[in-house]
Amino acid sequence: MREFTRNWRGRRLTVGALVLALSMVAGGVAVAAGGPAIQTITPRSANNITNLDVLRQQIRNYYGDPLGSGVFAPDSNYAKEASSEAATGAWWLTVVSKWHLHNGHGRPAIVLDVDDTTLATWNYEIFSNWAYNSTSNGTYVNGQLFPAVPGMVGMVKKAAAEGYAIIFITGRPAAQELPTLGNLTADGVGVDAGYPTPTTLNDGEDGLFTKPPVASYPAYLQAACAGDPNGSCTTVHYKTATRAHIESLGYDIVASFGDQFSDLTGGFADRTFKMPNPNYFLP
Ligand SMILES: [Mg+2]
Repeated sequence: MREFTRNWRGRRLTVGALVLALSMVAGGVAVAAGGPAIQTITPRSANNITNLDVLRQQIRNYYGDPLGSGVFAPDSNYAKEASSEAATGAWWLTVVSKWHLHNGHGRPAIVLDVDDTTLATWNYEIFSNWAYNSTSNGTYVNGQLFPAVPGMVGMVKKAAAEGYAIIFITGRPAAQELPTLGNLTADGVGVDAGYPTPTTLNDGEDGLFTKPPVASYPAYLQAACAGDPNGSCTTVHYKTATRAHIESLGYDIVASFGDQFSDLTGGFADRTFKMPNPNYFLP
């Protein structure tokens, strides 16, 4: 059974560890220092827990990939749910853009997470049997192997056409910036998802924020994360402080899109949109 792994996504719980955590909250195996990362119930009986192999099959069915080929189906419930959330986001952005035009606020912006918000990692979940490993995952990242999340490219293109700054904030490390940009946009390597180029901000920064090493933190991350373990930002602190930094430049983040609640809490966004992801939990 897997435990926590430390990597660019912070402490990541796989499906297996999640189920373990459900059953062993006080058992010490899947418990991080300071307590379990996921606050949840303790089932009284195994009958209250979905069998892990059955759960994996349910997830494969949800992705329209019952045999686990690693390719999700365009008519799957996953694709429908992701497209529906993207469409709601597109509707919201159109409404707000018209309001913005008449009210002279800061330049409107949207913030997007990468993994399972704009790029779908289903192929890697199948490859790894939901067991994240930074080395094998790096093969997928550097090979630019992830297709777009359904509905999201159209939404982001529409937002760009309406005048929104397009900003990505990912927990991927700075060392993966170039392949991440290439996978998201179009560089002729691997998959080119077709998103607009991230907007260059008005202070000259590029609009794809990857997570720097602690020694290279800008002042706003140093300040926000001084109390975190080893001064290394938690996901919530990293993403929240980065959104605050963006708004300090005069942008109004009208919408923030993420697949993890840790992408979306912390404020500095007018509205959040939660993309579906039953595969892992990032505190
Ligand atoms: Mg994500």
